[in-house]
Amino acid sequence: MRGAAHPFAGRAGKVGPMTVTLPDSYILRGTAAGGTLRLVGMESSRLVEDARLRHGLSKTATAALGRTLTASALLAVVLGKRTDSRVNLRIEGDGPVGWVVAEGSTDGRVRGYVRHPDADLPLRERDGKLDVSGIVGQEGEIAVTRLLDNGEPYTGSAHLVSGEIAEDVSTYLGVSEQIPNAVLLGVYEEGGRVAHAGGLLIQAMPGASDETLGRLEANVRAMGQLTDHLRRGGLLAALERAAEGLDLRLAAEAQPAHFACRCSRQKAQDSLKFFSAAERQDMIETGGQEIVCHWCGERYQITPEEIDALDQGGAPARA
Ligand SMILES: [Zn+2]
Repeated sequence: MRGAAHPFAGRAGKVGPMTVTLPDSYILRGTAAGGTLRLVGMESSRLVEDARLRHGLSKTATAALGRTLTASALLAVVLGKRTDSRVNLRIEGDGPVGWVVAEGSTDGRVRGYVRHPDADLPLRERDGKLDVSGIVGQEGEIAVTRLLDNGEPYTGSAHLVSGEIAEDVSTYLGVSEQIPNAVLLGVYEEGGRVAHAGGLLIQAMPGASDETLGRLEANVRAMGQLTDHLRRGGLLAALERAAEGLDLRLAAEAQPAHFACRCSRQKAQDSLKFFSAAERQDMIETGGQEIVCHWCGERYQITPEEIDALDQGGAPARA
């Protein structure tokens, strides 16, 4: 299914001869402890692998963006009010990857990118893991933007605590949104591609008892690496482990999720309107202009005729 058939496979040029079928990404929701805990889990392996191929990400950059993409989708579920609410998550540390940005939506569409996709680091010596905090940096800021009920954008921000992303998102939710929570995120690569990726976000509601919170904390602490659970039993097993002894009740419907951008040829053409007429004339004379969408890596070759039409007050229809 994947490999050569993937529309972006040729661009990244990193797809090996073997093809691996990853499960479609999805989000599961549930409650536990009589509704005093809300759980959101995401299986995001395929979505993160898609991001890796689109952007030509290094191993460590894949882990950093993969965690951030997953977190943005989980945050959209927790913070979004409507069926199409979007949440923008920006992690800007002082590490070599530069900023890491993702936008999740309650409808399951997720997109994102990093400043320096080639940046990479060796595996960490102390535990042999991908060095996400090293590539992100430990000094910096996490910013979360969403639309409020009245349609106004609202941005909250906090200092990074570790650059590992899960801890940063968790601290942001606790401190800036006053939402007691636990967050687990993981990306596991094998043979240069994403094998497992996912996340859990557990929110304590008002009325959660001390016993419930204590049990949850003990469960989460005992879990270790989320990707170990994803590898062994999938997302459901990970959710069951996190809510062990707390009477997990899952919502029946899973929400499909995928990497999806909002760019279009029309938007790419329109972006040229911000240049001066003289600059557009230069583009016409040099055979057109390529516009690259930073969110998804899509390349739009805008023809001289299309650029010319912008000055005539519109763009020609194009097949
Ligand atoms: Zn795009």
